[in-house]
Amino acid sequence: MEIEEKDKNYLFHPMTNLAAHEQTGPPMTVVSAHGSTVTDRAGRDYLDAMAGLWCVNVGYSHPEMADALREQTLKLPYFHAFSSMGTDLPAQLSERLIEMAPVPMSKVFYGNSGSDANDTQAKLVWYYNNVLGRPEKKKIISRRRGYHGVTVLSGGLTGFKNLHDGFDLPLPMIRHVRPPHGLWEREPGQTDDEFATALAVELERFIINEGPETVAAMIAEPVMAAGGVIVPPETYFPKIQEVLRRHDVLLIADEVVNGFGRLGVPFGSNAVNMQPDLMTVAKGITSAYVPLSAVLVSDRIWQVMLEGSAKYGSFGHGYTYSAHPLAAAAAMKNLDIIERDGLVAEVARKGELLSELLHAAFADHPNVGEIRGRGLMAAVEFVESREPLRPFAAQGAFAGAVYQGALAEGVITRALPAADTVSFSPPFVVTESELERMVAGVRTGLDRAVEAQR
Ligand code: PLP
Repeated sequence: MEIEEKDKNYLFHPMTNLAAHEQTGPPMTVVSAHGSTVTDRAGRDYLDAMAGLWCVNVGYSHPEMADALREQTLKLPYFHAFSSMGTDLPAQLSERLIEMAPVPMSKVFYGNSGSDANDTQAKLVWYYNNVLGRPEKKKIISRRRGYHGVTVLSGGLTGFKNLHDGFDLPLPMIRHVRPPHGLWEREPGQTDDEFATALAVELERFIINEGPETVAAMIAEPVMAAGGVIVPPETYFPKIQEVLRRHDVLLIADEVVNGFGRLGVPFGSNAVNMQPDLMTVAKGITSAYVPLSAVLVSDRIWQVMLEGSAKYGSFGHGYTYSAHPLAAAAAMKNLDIIERDGLVAEVARKGELLSELLHAAFADHPNVGEIRGRGLMAAVEFVESREPLRPFAAQGAFAGAVYQGALAEGVITRALPAADTVSFSPPFVVTESELERMVAGVRTGLDRAVEAQR
């Protein structure tokens, strides 16, 4: 049986139209990858403009990552962290994360994915309020278009309708508010600052309406990724935080995509003036070589968690793979490479080039509504008409066609589910000529999509 047949017959694909896949099988079978290039079974090379799912930051098949993982596998492939058990690398990684955190943090809790880490965040926030004797303060505010995962709780935090439908989500304590997506949400003539003020005022009204004594936390990506690469106005988070502080609502920064340099600065919180009480990281912490996520907890929260021991005994949350030594080895080596090779500064430099290339290739096109991004994270949003501004009726179909057209050119981008948008998030080691070829491939994809409409 061909490998594609095996896939079609036996592999239950995530985020895939199941009935369509049952007919077509996989469009390609990736068998190897190096740097920014992935290769399929037929031997065809593709430039991966998305670093997998925004995550392979040091590039594919880095020999030093392989060496570090082999060494750790032969030394200590696994031991657990339950019941106070210690292992060496996770302890070292924790110190490193606390030292590099964008705001003062106190402790690190490990998981295996961004989704489970955001579930941990909700449990921490609830535990915190239970210890403080405020059992009614439990609601969590998220934003439409925000992406925070797919587990029973985090799937509801994600502000995409298609991740809720059919799953009875979100859970009842979750609320969604308007995102800072200027293209569609800003009133005509509103400045960036006025737009930020309007969103903050709206948030405050929302919290007051819900009852501040029932609202525990707000979760937000500094720069939204899957929701369309939405960069907030500069004053957005300072104004939002003022509101949250006034009502004793905690702020959780979801740095799963932004963290560890994607924006050309160490963390998204640095980029957008965010001062979170709790932080979620994953993806770029190991460049996805081994699954790992972490929740960083500030001292204010930690002191209350400590009081919880007297009230509830042993902290009843944790995974078999929490603080996995192999994942910690991947993270340590990954962070070594990023630091030694100055990759965050490289992201800032290459990000400028990416932005120039995108503007040159797309700015004048009648179907391009907006080009946006920061560092090596960018997006092009398509519209049916610019004047007057009008989206395509079948949302996402046009970006899907652009994606297909680019794929035919050997460039892998991503048609984002919540917007008619294709995104760019290449490995930090991408070369200038690769960036040029990525942008050119997507531009050809756009020409093909326009052609197909005629
Ligand atoms: N948070 C953000 C910002 C993400 O982009 C993602 C995944 O794309 C997640 C959380 C969920 O992470 P995972 O897919 O590892 O569960």
